[in-house]
Amino acid sequence: MAEAAAAARACTVCAPHLPLGPRPIYQLHARARILVTSQAPGTKAHLSGIPFEDASGERLRDWLGLGRDLFYDPEVLAILPMGMCYPGRLPRGGDAPPRPECAPLWHPRVLPRFENLRLRLLVGAHAIRHVLGPRMPLAERVARYAEALPANFPLPHPSWRTLVWAKRNAWFDTQVIPALRREVARALSD
Ligand code: SF4
Repeated sequence: MAEAAAAARACTVCAPHLPLGPRPIYQLHARARILVTSQAPGTKAHLSGIPFEDASGERLRDWLGLGRDLFYDPEVLAILPMGMCYPGRLPRGGDAPPRPECAPLWHPRVLPRFENLRLRLLVGAHAIRHVLGPRMPLAERVARYAEALPANFPLPHPSWRTLVWAKRNAWFDTQVIPALRREVARALSD
C-alpha cells in the first residue's frame, strides 16, 4: 500500500486540467477497516493536505458516530476519493466533478491492497454511480441502502445542501443514520 500511495502522490496525469495543480489527497493503510470513497477535495483540503477538515467533515463524522481520533486513524479508516486532486470550479459556480481519469487509474491499483476492509462508504453521487451503477436516483439509492450491504453503504455528500435534502427526506435521519452507525460499529468490532 505504501508503494501505491507513493506512486499516487507523484501523479500528474491530469495536470493540464487542474487549476491549482496536482496534489492528491488521500488516507491509506492496508489494515483499514472502513473505506470512504468520496468525490474530490475542495480548496481547503488542497491547501492543508487534510481531507474532510471542514463542516462537511464534521457532518460526516457525526453521521458515522466517529470522533476525529478514529476518523483520522488510517488503520481504522481510509479515504480514496473518486478524484484525488482539487478539480476547480464550474463556470456557473460550484466545484467541478472529480477528474474522470482518476478512479479508473488508481482504484484498481489501490483497492486490492486493503487486507481487512469490511465496509465501503460511497459518499456522493459520483462514488455511488461508479460502484453501484447509474440506474437509480440518489435519494432512492440511499433509501435502499440495505441492498448494497454488507460491502457498501451509499450516502449523500455531507455538504450544507444535504441539510435541506435531509429535511425533505426525514427517513434519512431516523432510519439511515442509525443503520449507518450500526454498520460502522460492526466494521470496527473484532
Ligand atoms: S486527479 Fe488523480 S489522476 Fe488526476 S493528477 Fe490527481 S491523482 Fe492523478
